[in-house]
Amino acid sequence: MELDLQPIKLEGVPEERPLIIAGPCSAETEEQVMSTARQLADKGIKIFRAGIWKPRTKPGGFEGIGVEGLAWLKEVKKETGMYVTTEVANAKHVYECLKAGIDILWIGARTTANPFAMQEIADALKGVDVPVLVKNPVNPDLELWIGALERINNAGLKRLGAIHRGFSSYDKKIYRNLPQWHIPIELRRRIPNLPILCDPSHIGGKRELVAPLCQQAMDLGFDGLIVESHCNPDCAWSDAKQQVTPDVLDYILNLLVIRSEHSTTENLNELRRQIDECDNELIEILAKRMRICREIGTFKKEHNMTVLQTGRYNEILDKRGAQGSLCGMDADFVKSVFEAIHEESVRQQIEILNK
Ligand code: PEP
Ligand code: MN
Repeated sequence: MELDLQPIKLEGVPEERPLIIAGPCSAETEEQVMSTARQLADKGIKIFRAGIWKPRTKPGGFEGIGVEGLAWLKEVKKETGMYVTTEVANAKHVYECLKAGIDILWIGARTTANPFAMQEIADALKGVDVPVLVKNPVNPDLELWIGALERINNAGLKRLGAIHRGFSSYDKKIYRNLPQWHIPIELRRRIPNLPILCDPSHIGGKRELVAPLCQQAMDLGFDGLIVESHCNPDCAWSDAKQQVTPDVLDYILNLLVIRSEHSTTENLNELRRQIDECDNELIEILAKRMRICREIGTFKKEHNMTVLQTGRYNEILDKRGAQGSLCGMDADFVKSVFEAIHEESVRQQIEILNK
């Protein structure tokens, strides 16, 4: 399905890449909101974010200041001239935001994953012309993400954007939410005129990752960034570890290299970046496979079994050789890759047996 879209275009906000939205995870106090907003405005930020209603994983965390905070966002608009944006998760949030003159609404990852909530929000927005940014759902499901955008679009809203904030996974290694860049890249392929912003704060989960993720998003041709920035990040009431001060944000943005999409060397760099990404995934998946092999090693030791089970080994080589050739690779090449993997697995299991 085609979406009927119009550019978000905001007066006074430069149209070139990247569109920047910044502000704290949550509006906490009037002082924190105003101080952060003033500092960001001084750095030239034009769109201010702050969560008013916060979806927390467990009860008892800071669930947002609520309606009271909308007055602070109005004050930010009045004093700094910045546009303001906040998260809406139900019809009541939508009405409150429209009443308060919030300029842009965003839909959080947990809400995008829920078609009932999305439809309720879409219905509440019928006949309203306000830009809406839809975060990806927590689970890596592109159709669900597109479905959420379609619901808003079907309600007549055309100024839409998507925010890539990574995908939840049980295995938290480097990232709080795995980037799985191929998903927003596929979204771009499916809906080319939909602006896509990256949220490095929720992908990384820690401040050191904000700068490299911003750069990566720019290198992948994202249209903008939404970054959590707080006047005193360590004391933030939510997402303290991933927020940066307005000063640090300014530093990060100034160092960003914005490459144009069209020169041939850029295309080459992009392909190489994709290769690096693949290689990273290969190493991660190999490491995971080795961890499982070591578990099998422990099992074999406990049950007095031999490390090498020829039947199983042949089965792997044949099956993967055949699968490889179906995927356009030489079956012998795939077999030799699996021989090398198997050799290392055996070495690791023997280590365990001899411990
Ligand atoms: C947020 O932006 O603070 C937030 C709650 O994000 P997400 O919906 O991506 O988890
Ligand atoms: Mn947050």
